[in-house]
Amino acid sequence: MASTFSSRAGAACCIAGRLLFTLWFTQTAVIAQTSFPISTSTPEYREDQILIKPKQNVNMAALRSAHSMLKSEVVQTFEGIGRMQVLRVPKGETVQSLIAKYQQSGLVEFAEPDYIVRAALTPNDPKYTDGTLWGLNNTGQSGGTNDADIDAPEGWDVLTSASNIVVAVLDTGVRASHEDLTNNMWVNPLDGSHGWNAIATNNNPNDDGGHGTLVSGVLGGYGNNGKGVAGVAWRVQIMAGKCLDSGGTGSDSTLIACIDFARTNGARIINASLDSAGYSEALSNAIVSTRDAGIIFIASAGNNSVNIDATPRYPSCYDIDNIISVAATTRADILGGFSNYGATNVDLAAPGADMYSTFFGSDSLYLGGSFLFGTSLAAPYVAGACALVWAKYPTENYQQIIRRVLNGTDPLPALAGKCTTGGRLNLRKALGPAISLSVLPTPSNQPFQLRLIGVPNRTGIIEATTNLPSGWSPVFTNTISTNGNFDFMDNQSTNLPQRFYRGVAAP
Ligand code: CA
Ligand code: CA
Repeated sequence: MASTFSSRAGAACCIAGRLLFTLWFTQTAVIAQTSFPISTSTPEYREDQILIKPKQNVNMAALRSAHSMLKSEVVQTFEGIGRMQVLRVPKGETVQSLIAKYQQSGLVEFAEPDYIVRAALTPNDPKYTDGTLWGLNNTGQSGGTNDADIDAPEGWDVLTSASNIVVAVLDTGVRASHEDLTNNMWVNPLDGSHGWNAIATNNNPNDDGGHGTLVSGVLGGYGNNGKGVAGVAWRVQIMAGKCLDSGGTGSDSTLIACIDFARTNGARIINASLDSAGYSEALSNAIVSTRDAGIIFIASAGNNSVNIDATPRYPSCYDIDNIISVAATTRADILGGFSNYGATNVDLAAPGADMYSTFFGSDSLYLGGSFLFGTSLAAPYVAGACALVWAKYPTENYQQIIRRVLNGTDPLPALAGKCTTGGRLNLRKALGPAISLSVLPTPSNQPFQLRLIGVPNRTGIIEATTNLPSGWSPVFTNTISTNGNFDFMDNQSTNLPQRFYRGVAAP
């Protein structure tokens, strides 16, 4: 239980592995550190209890008197497990210090924290649980490499739903009645349809080719319904933009029509799993219009096995800062042999080989196997991750969300020099800390104002101390809103020379 902290003003502080966000202020200065990742090296534990096991031949009377001297109350004794005891940590005492005192007493075989155990948040969808969806969680099944995945279960422990985020899938259409997509389809409030068909120029973007339904299942297959697959985002609003015909072919004009529909109907993210060798001013202008509307535009890098810095593919190679270009990796965490790449024009990679997803042939049809691969299926991993990240940070703009996703990749040797990040998508890292605290602009002499950002609908606690590293006590507890935050004004702050804050999640 090593305690570490830095005495520098504004330094982040991590005690016993819990995520702490510390803000330090004096009457004249406020210094905040931006978010930083949770330490996963030391697990969470209960702060109100510890566990001890008496040494085998110890005098129990001596132990009882130690308890009474240390003011720790025995909550439970497990006679059949070596008289192991659960002890309540007395007020004013910390877990670390109490454990140290018992260890020094010579009376116990061990004294340790009461670590938090959680049911891992994993969905019951059969193709997830049987390991088919290796890109979400890879334990080395089917000859793959352990952890060659986006750390989806770890990410889902933070957030599974982006139900308020509309993602337009520009493709062959989407089978909106599919059992594993239907509840995640965007519904046009004007006519009840699910998007736009730029081939037939009507409001029925049904899938007659299959590609768009596959893409949609990767992005937003309905998670935890006991059926089929789980998308990266279990809940999301998929807007279908049919710009490709049944053979998977469209043109800049059909693409632009769907982009325009997406932009004017509330899409926050566009997934374009398509590419072309032709540079188009018109398409470039259409994408600029999405950037001006604050939309993230995700493009597959293409499947020509080429360096697109030298042999450009579009939209990936337009120099517009809301475009994320995605290459594909395999279950061994190497670049797919089919995948395009480019140190300048490709941003990151995501799983895209040996895929499995929803299929358009019927409401319960799925498709997958070694024949199903492509950067088309890597792009929606990134789209799903962007949707979840945006759901968690709803006040941020497209540049901030893109930065979180690109800064959160796992660097891979196989991707060095192949894309700007040199990394593969990692959902858990992209989502950032489960809880963070930031300072709101506060006029001088006014009480200090803080915003806690965390998992919607869970309980967050702001704790404060004037005396690092100990003395933390809760100053405000609240339910985190569906927008993922709550604010707090500390009226006591004006009376104190300094105060440190941290945000913690309720156990
Ligand atoms: Ca993993
Ligand atoms: Ca499902």
